Order: sequence, then structure tokens, then C-alpha cells
Amino acid sequence: MDAKNTKAFGTVASDAPLKEIHIQRREVTPKDIEIEILYCGVCHSDLHTARNDWGGSVYPVVPGHEIVGKVTKVGSGVTKLKVGDLAAVGCLVDSCRECDSCQHDLEQYCLNGFTGTYNSPDKHLHLQTYGGYSEKVVVDEHFVLKVPANLNLAAVAPLLCAGITTWSPLRHWNVGKDSKVAVVGLGGLGHMAIKLAKGLGAEVTLFSRTPEKTQDAKELGADTVVISTDAEQMKSVKGKFDLIIDTVPYIHDINPYISTLNINGTHVLVGYLGDLNPMLNSVPMIMGRKSVAGSVIGGIAETQEMLDFCGKHNIVSEIEIIKMQDINTAYERMLKSDVRYRFVIDMASLKK
Ligand SMILES: [Zn+2]
Ligand SMILES: [Zn+2]
Repeated sequence: MDAKNTKAFGTVASDAPLKEIHIQRREVTPKDIEIEILYCGVCHSDLHTARNDWGGSVYPVVPGHEIVGKVTKVGSGVTKLKVGDLAAVGCLVDSCRECDSCQHDLEQYCLNGFTGTYNSPDKHLHLQTYGGYSEKVVVDEHFVLKVPANLNLAAVAPLLCAGITTWSPLRHWNVGKDSKVAVVGLGGLGHMAIKLAKGLGAEVTLFSRTPEKTQDAKELGADTVVISTDAEQMKSVKGKFDLIIDTVPYIHDINPYISTLNINGTHVLVGYLGDLNPMLNSVPMIMGRKSVAGSVIGGIAETQEMLDFCGKHNIVSEIEIIKMQDINTAYERMLKSDVRYRFVIDMASLKK
């Protein structure tokens, strides 16, 4: 039997476009679920990993960690799902399951390092893990999510990364009806932050540099838009927010936002990894017991909680469906922020 049993789309070098390749998926073990992938969202991390922007990419790279599909096979010990059920996989496919983080449903903070859905060492085949730009995936049931049946399946896909990345801080900082939440940046993450914070009952403000985003933000549920380059507007929200979710994916000055936090408020970074520049001034933090924090995706239980919440409140991502073969163009458009608000690949196109 050909070991490379699965058609996929990937790249063989940092400067090569994505193209059709073949990869190996394992046979299901007793705890595994095999999923036929129907839709896969396109995340900025996909592009960065394909192009080795962060270093550490091992080729071939098959990106994709916003996966939804249908169960096609289950191992003898699987209890969570059965053949024919809808299923989803996000950014994690394994973790040590033993450390303090894993014991507390915080697999994303596994002290021994989680296994990413792509470009992580694969414990089973001793290759790299390959993501959702492929026909199928085989994942331990612990890391497979159930999908509410009432939602548009394609638009569910981005919930698995963009959704949970913003849901986790909203829940950790106990956002509810009396909360005032601000979102910095209106992209894949930002638009989900608005929808989810609104779903939780919060008053939601978008910080944007451009007035052109105002109408979109309001349609997504934002109560107010504050132009962050307008000093007067910034002053009008001084001391207002309990939580600011900062989704900006590049280096930026966060000092102006700290003054808009209420006492005990938190500015949480979810989109940018690296040094801050200009440096963070501690004075407004100390004088108002304010925090600057970070957060990455979410644990499996929390991801299920988010999907169930979205099912109940009819929340999905705003998407543009593309064919697998159009992924290279989609990456170029993403770099120009020319997407409202997430590309999702119709994986039926890979079969052709
Ligand atoms: Zn992602
Ligand atoms: Zn662990």
C-alpha cells in the first residue's frame, strides 16, 4: 500500500507556492477518529508557517487548523463520536495529558509543549503533523470537537482558531452583561471578538485607525467605534474598559490603550508575538492596578464550550469561500487585509 495515502495541498520550500502533494495519514488506533475534511479556514499562521516567517518550518508544510468535516472511521475505543457525525479539529491534536496544565483542561499551555495540528513532531508516524489542507485527518478523540448541527458548516471553521483565540480571554476575564470590552483591530480575530463579546452581553467598542471600518463594525455588533489616532476620541473613553482584546498582528504602540482601561482593567494581546515598541510605560499600570497580558487559543473543553455557545446564539464567522487551487492568491490578499473576514477552503475542490 502506498504510504502516502492522502491528497493534500502544501509547500516544499519557504519560497515555493502551495501545490498538490501527497502525505501519509495513520490508520486509526483504538482512540482515533478519522475525519473527511469538508471545509478548512485560512489563518495567518498558515501563511507564516508555509513561508517560514517564524523559523522552524519543516517541509513539506501542509497548513490548516480550522477544520470541519464528517467522521468516516472510529477506533474501537472511541466514545465521543460515531461515523457520520460532524466533527471539528482546531490548533491542537495532542499534548502530554499529564502536566498540571493538561490536568486542568489547559492543553494549550501544556508544560511539555502541545502538538500543533501542523508542523509539530508527530508521535505516531515520527514525521511532522500535517494540517487541514487535505482530504482527511486522523486525530485522537480527546482533541476532536463536536459541531452544533444548526450552524453553517463552512462558517464554523474559523471558530476553531479565530473564535477560540478571542473566546478564551473573554471567559478568563469573566466578561458578561456588565462588562465594557474593547477590541483593537478588525480582521479575522477582531470580528470574532466583537461577535462573541456581544453574545456574552458586553458593551463593545472597536478601536480602529480607519473610519471606513465603522459601518462593518456596527453591523457585526459593536456599539461604538473609536478612531485610535484621534486624540479627542481616545480621551472620551479614558478609564472605560474592563478588557481590551488586542488582535493586531504586528508591532504596535499599546501605551495609548492603557489609559482607556478602568481600574483593574486588562489589555490582552492575542495577535502579536514579540517585543513591544515603544516600550510599555508602567506608570498608568501602577496608578490604576492595570494589567497587560497575553493569551493563546484555548483548551479543548473551552473550545467545545465556545462551539456550544455559538450554536445556541447562532454565531459564526463572516467568510469568503475559495477553492483549494486559489490558496496562493488568497495568501496575497490576506497580506493586504483584503478579506472579510476569513477565507474558508471548500475542500471538495481538492478532489477535482
Ligand atoms: Zn490560527
Ligand atoms: Zn501537558
